[in-house]
Amino acid sequence: MICSSVSGFESILSQKRPVKILTRLLETGKIPHAFIFTGMEGVGKRLTALTFAMAVNCEGHGEDPLGNSRMGSDPIRSSKDTPCGRCRSCNKIKAGSHPDVLTVAPEGSMIKIQQIRNLIRTLTLKPYEARVRVVIISQSHTLNPAAGNALLKILEEPPDRTLLILTAPQTGDILPTIVSRCRPIRFNPLSREHIKLLLEKNANLDEGKADVLSTMASGSFSRALTRSRANWIHRRQWLLSSVCFDRPDQMQALSVRTLLAFSEKLAVNKDTATASLEILAVWLRDLIVWRYRPRSIVNQDLKNEIQSASEKKPVAQLYKMIEIVLQAERDIRTNMNLRLCLDMMMLNLSEV
Ligand SMILES: [Zn+2]
Repeated sequence: MICSSVSGFESILSQKRPVKILTRLLETGKIPHAFIFTGMEGVGKRLTALTFAMAVNCEGHGEDPLGNSRMGSDPIRSSKDTPCGRCRSCNKIKAGSHPDVLTVAPEGSMIKIQQIRNLIRTLTLKPYEARVRVVIISQSHTLNPAAGNALLKILEEPPDRTLLILTAPQTGDILPTIVSRCRPIRFNPLSREHIKLLLEKNANLDEGKADVLSTMASGSFSRALTRSRANWIHRRQWLLSSVCFDRPDQMQALSVRTLLAFSEKLAVNKDTATASLEILAVWLRDLIVWRYRPRSIVNQDLKNEIQSASEKKPVAQLYKMIEIVLQAERDIRTNMNLRLCLDMMMLNLSEV
């Protein structure tokens, strides 16, 4: 999530359980040396890690009158369970300029041994100014085996005043010996309403577009945001209009040349192609849903277009079209030739 939006735990939408666990730990002072935050990309794991880093280092709360300490015997003085968001330390973390809040992320497709060696060197020094240095190991499932073993050494002998927060989609892809030394906290997909709110706030989208993108995001704000920046709405328009998905009764009249020219454009990139097929499958589904529960369509901003297109094909044929698109999606995922899958899809669709 966006660093500039870091303020307090109240800004972490839809993640009540993780926030409850973390604020409870802050209250009791029983903070482990390492966490592993699991959950799909774009559900607030990094935002939560940064907020927690702010909370353990916040200077806005003054001395703890009870003298409570956190992380064993470390002299951590903040007495509140949420950061002030205004002190010098909070501001530095928000700005991404705190020298003791570090992130290790994959370089290319993995986290390499040299990155963990560099981290070990840094951790042999005392923190510059933080009460608790926080190291976020982002996408820790991409640690290569050597890097994983090096990280294990850090976890076996955790340095003073240092908290490690690993993030990953799930624990299954990480060395069990690493997982067993971390306190796991599971993050659920975000609700559609919360993604919509975040889109309206962070991407300046109008309600209709935010509605569609939040429904298509499968619980991930970053996915919705990436799509809003990638001009998803324009892409959808292009997909629907260039080979008559918006007038499905006319698709049969298209020439083979037109159909194959379309699949050639789709086949430029595998990720974009699968995202495009998802758009088409959802569109075709909407054409069926419109007849029974119009309020449940995904493309809420295209009601008129859906109404008009929905009348142009019998439901059975629309089902058949969806099945063809989904079959192409499955074939692409099993690494069949991308261009071939898309050519076959278009030719089959034109015969429905
Ligand atoms: Zn503060």
